[in-house]
Amino acid sequence: MEQSSAAALDNQSDEDAINISVAVPVYNEETTVEELLGRIGKVLDTIAGEHQIVIVDDGSTDSSFAILEAAAKQDSRILAVALSRNFGHQVAISAALDHSCGDVVVVMDGDLQDPPESIPLFLNEYRQGYDVVYAVRTHRKENIVKRTCYKVFYRLLSVLAHLEIPLDAGDFALMSRRVVDLVRNSHERQRYLRGLRTWYGFEQKGIPTARDARHSGQSKYSLGKLLRLALDGIFAFSIVPIRMAMLAGVIAVGCSLLYALYALYVKFYFDPSQQAPPGFTALILTITFLSGMNLLFAGIIGEYIGRIYEEVKQRPHYVVKRTIGKVK
Ligand code: UDP
Ligand code: MG
Repeated sequence: MEQSSAAALDNQSDEDAINISVAVPVYNEETTVEELLGRIGKVLDTIAGEHQIVIVDDGSTDSSFAILEAAAKQDSRILAVALSRNFGHQVAISAALDHSCGDVVVVMDGDLQDPPESIPLFLNEYRQGYDVVYAVRTHRKENIVKRTCYKVFYRLLSVLAHLEIPLDAGDFALMSRRVVDLVRNSHERQRYLRGLRTWYGFEQKGIPTARDARHSGQSKYSLGKLLRLALDGIFAFSIVPIRMAMLAGVIAVGCSLLYALYALYVKFYFDPSQQAPPGFTALILTITFLSGMNLLFAGIIGEYIGRIYEEVKQRPHYVVKRTIGKVK
């Protein structure tokens, strides 16, 4: 342990001691992991207690795991877990939670967009009695298109979800052991962790935290992956889309009844010679509009059924290929 951090520890009583696990997913982050481990390690050095850094390598094809392996052999706090292939960010976080043993677990991204230096701030709130302390992004250093998409998505989700999921809160958060165990024991496959975390309740607090720019490399979230995450969030926490089918059906039936009344009125009260010829355009519009609606809602229903199918298959969430370090 470094001199300065040893001095910092001297000022703390045993009562302050707390066992922390830091859970981090990484995917092709060879240019960042060393710096990441260094910064997390430094922060943990200043906090009394037994700590663990669980890094899950989500099927990287670069040298990320080799670096992690070397680091885990040097520092007994590090547990490096390699998954058998790329399972995706949310699943990698689940794997990290499964391997964490601390009284509190801090989940953070492996690209240093979430500053490890915020951990002591989260801990202060935990000590005040909060079970979940999450970062609320004050400003993002991503491009305007991505920022706008995030903003629109979080607001859409808050309208659709039957749950108050905090706006602009990501996965960067501290969770108490009881919340971690609850999240781990929820069996759903398509996980949207920030939603699950909220669902379990207890005392939760958001802390404004700036989201740094990526340390290096490119975002590992392709547009497709980001879209899938957004759909997971919406479909896992809302049945509003499927209800919209009913609403649209009611509106369509209402309109057609009104039109029938109007047609009867015209038939009985107007001179037939003054009636407009039957509207071909109106007919085509009605047919195409309603068949479009049918396809759209068949798609939405299909989306839910597909997800039910995924759940009933009961495959494991992930497969571990190797672990380096002490599994507690
Ligand atoms: N990540 C992962 N598996 C993936 C994609 C990403 O483990 O399939 C990791 C990635 O290495 C990073 C974190 O998840 O540590 C967040 O990903 P990224 O920074 O690419 O997402 P963004 O911040 O751009 O939304
Ligand atoms: Mg990132």
